[in-house]
Amino acid sequence: MALNVKGYAAFAAKEDLVPHSFIRRDPRDNDVVIEILYSGVCHSDIHSSFNDWGGAKYPMVPGHEIIGRVIQVGKAVSQFRVGDYAGVGCMVDSCQRCTHCEQGLEQYCEEGHTLTYNDVDRYDHMPTYGGYSEKIVVNEKFVIKIPENMDLKSAAPLLCAGITTWSPLRHWNVGRESKVAVVGLGGLGHMAIKLAKALGAEVTLFSRSPGKEADARHLGAGHFVISTDEKQMQEVYNQFDLIIDTVPYVHDLNPYIPTLALNGTLVLVGYLGDLNPMLNSAPLILGRKSVAGSVIGGITETQELIDFCAKHQVTADVELIKIQDINSAWQRMLKSDVKYRFVIDMSSLKA
Ligand code: NAP
Ligand code: ZN
Repeated sequence: MALNVKGYAAFAAKEDLVPHSFIRRDPRDNDVVIEILYSGVCHSDIHSSFNDWGGAKYPMVPGHEIIGRVIQVGKAVSQFRVGDYAGVGCMVDSCQRCTHCEQGLEQYCEEGHTLTYNDVDRYDHMPTYGGYSEKIVVNEKFVIKIPENMDLKSAAPLLCAGITTWSPLRHWNVGRESKVAVVGLGGLGHMAIKLAKALGAEVTLFSRSPGKEADARHLGAGHFVISTDEKQMQEVYNQFDLIIDTVPYVHDLNPYIPTLALNGTLVLVGYLGDLNPMLNSAPLILGRKSVAGSVIGGITETQELIDFCAKHQVTADVELIKIQDINSAWQRMLKSDVKYRFVIDMSSLKA
């Protein structure tokens, strides 16, 4: 039986989200149905809804940091029971056969993974809709187990902001000897600081905002650098093994490259598109430095992150909002005014 679901949707780029009722696809035998309790608010929700990346399909129900409770399981489901806490991130399916999927790298599926929203189901071609809603239907393979002892609202951002920063930290083997820098203190940036610190690294924040220094230090950054201050930048030349750049808009990467150590890598996770101004290759060549990119993380890796966070008591710093406040929350995010992730209490949908 198809599900009739309430949520909030965008009907056009840059228009306010409004209440919207819609039909979700019929659950299949390997699906769970999740009642959504909390939904994190990612800058990608704004980019997608504003059609910054092209390909927007309206009405669009954003949200890919979902925590909820399983309320129904298909007859082939083996890993979840009704009542379990469950998480869903940015993808809800992939081909599950290609070499990347077989390695647990579903985010790099050769056929392309199925996005949690603004996409279509691989089988019945029904639209996918995200977490700013009451319920979601997901193949159990793309559902993350959330331990009972986690604070659910603060765990929601781990499903995107957390895994997107965890995956490069793990890929580039960050540990006790590492020096890591993070560019931008927003949702992804604050998780990057916490996770790098929890892995034992020495962490520096690059920010445009002097007012964020105390918070950065409180989150675990040992050093704070104003990225527009040339002298401060020069003081940290040749230091970092990994820089995680979370800035959502085009910006000059050239000032950051000299701060990489020999063999260091700057990994872009924020801005998607042409670099401007162009990148000077000289410091890359002369210092064997790299510029790379990374998208979210695989399902096994996401479960590893959740288990690590449960063990080390790492969660996001969240501002809980009602769904009715989503448009003003987005406006605040556009001004970098959030400490450090909005999370929607989905019970407000019933109000
Ligand atoms: P956010 O909470 O809005 O934080 C972005 C931070 O970047 C801001 O707090 C600000 O920090 C800095 N910033 C903003 N505009 C800037 C500009 N024009 N120039 C320089 N710095 C600027 O955003 P988020 O949710 O963390 O998302 C960050 C980006 O990651 C978005 O583009 C999102 O789409 C992307 N994303 C990618 C993936 C992936 O898989 N690769 C996953 C999720 C999100 P300061 O005030 O400290 O400078
Ligand atoms: Zn996201």
